[in-house]
Amino acid sequence: MATETRHTTVCVVGGGPAGAMLGLLLARSGVDVVVLEKHADFHRDFRGDTVHPATLQILDELGLVEKFHELPHQKVSTIGVVQDGKRIDIADFSRLKVPYPYMAFVPQWDFLDLITAQAAARYPSFRLLMRSEVLGVVRHEGRVTGVRVRGPGGEFEVRSTLVVAADGRHSAVRRDVGAEPRLIGASLDVIFFRISRREDDPDEGICVRIGNGKIFGATDRRTYWQMSYETSKGGLEDIRRRGLDAFRADLAALVPFLADRVHEVASMDDLSLLEARIDRLEQWHRPGLLFIGDAAHAMSPVAGFGVNLAVQDAVATSNALTAALLRGQRTGAPFDDTLLAKVRRRRRLTTALSQALQRGTQRFGIDSALKGSGQPPAPKLFERFGPAQKLMSRVIGLGFRPEHVRTPEADRPPSDPSAFSPHTTQLTTDEERQT
Ligand SMILES: Cc1cc2nc3c(=O)[nH]c(=O)nc-3n(C[C@H](O)[C@H](O)[C@H](O)COP(=O)(O)OP(=O)(O)OC[C@H]3O[C@@H](n4cnc5c(N)ncnc54)[C@H](O)[C@@H]3O)c2cc1C
Repeated sequence: MATETRHTTVCVVGGGPAGAMLGLLLARSGVDVVVLEKHADFHRDFRGDTVHPATLQILDELGLVEKFHELPHQKVSTIGVVQDGKRIDIADFSRLKVPYPYMAFVPQWDFLDLITAQAAARYPSFRLLMRSEVLGVVRHEGRVTGVRVRGPGGEFEVRSTLVVAADGRHSAVRRDVGAEPRLIGASLDVIFFRISRREDDPDEGICVRIGNGKIFGATDRRTYWQMSYETSKGGLEDIRRRGLDAFRADLAALVPFLADRVHEVASMDDLSLLEARIDRLEQWHRPGLLFIGDAAHAMSPVAGFGVNLAVQDAVATSNALTAALLRGQRTGAPFDDTLLAKVRRRRRLTTALSQALQRGTQRFGIDSALKGSGQPPAPKLFERFGPAQKLMSRVIGLGFRPEHVRTPEADRPPSDPSAFSPHTTQLTTDEERQT
């Protein structure tokens, strides 16, 4: 039986921050775009929930910032480290001269729902197919011309002028084309769990506590604390070997206000392990194919750079490619693959600097804290050297090279979106969400 084939201008693999934002940006200018997401929804816990000042500004440029602020969120101005019982603020966003001088905490599924729902409601050339897992690429004469997808109704193909792989740090597209990222930073295990929050708990925002060779992070989620335990490789095995009582005792010692609730970590099932790694592709593109976000450069959770960087990659991509994609869509002119190199040229240095900072923080902060031999020097630097805090606020809040939306919003959809719909009408609303 012949495989069903669908056609579009841009096929984006992955509906994370990079893919969802790119889908919205391209559709906003009238480019036909299909975003393929393998999961049925965006509900995955323990993803990056930080929306930085630079991303807020992008939402403003897109006319979405008011809608964003209608979501339940928290504004956090400072990031602190508690060492020897003393808090040191390593970043204070209120010092930035920007329209939104704070980090907004929003569950990532709310953020992605907002982006994709607004894209679908405003721009008819936007399509999001959930439960659609990309298995590999389709090639023609050495050029990537589409992807093979497993959807709820079986396998199908999407053919496109350009495929953008935004499918995260375990990118299936990357694997399929044999692109191997270079490991930049030593791996770190991050173990997530929840502890309930009480009315009289301190107002901590985001706070990392260091001591006794242990690191616990606490993020205030209003009704609960999203806790993280940073550890070297094999951290979960180590907890299993030492026993949960020892883990609860470590937690109570470092975060004393939670001492009466540590029993909420009742079994190993309450602990979720996420492996963090820092890596980067040397070449971000192939003919017909571009990698952005974590698929091009996996970010660790350190300093919460990843989501902002992924969103900025999407903005840089649409700034660089929209005009050529629209021209091709209107006239049938072939796409100039040399344009893809522009995205890497624009984003490579800022990515490398962000990863260097994550690596440095790991080396001089996290690794020495985990060794437990004396206190890490990094937080103290912020206490002694005032400009360090200002610099860190800027780098975390805005990134090394903030991007701005340069593409126009189309007056009306320039292409006929029904070109895609004969195929998609076979899907139920669960599989394709246009509202
Ligand atoms: C433990 C941990 C904690 C972190 N915490 C933070 C934080 O607090 N703040 C921050 O800014 N960053 C954080 N990061 C980094 C951040 O999560 C990433 O940098 C960011 O999510 C990258 O966005 P992305 O869109 O490129 O990829 P992702 O967010 O990984 O999105 C990729 C999407 O592609 C989908 N997908 C994957 N494969 C396929 C396929 N074959 N077919 C179709 N769809 C597919 C996935 O389901 C997913 O929705 C953290 C990272 C880790 C490991």
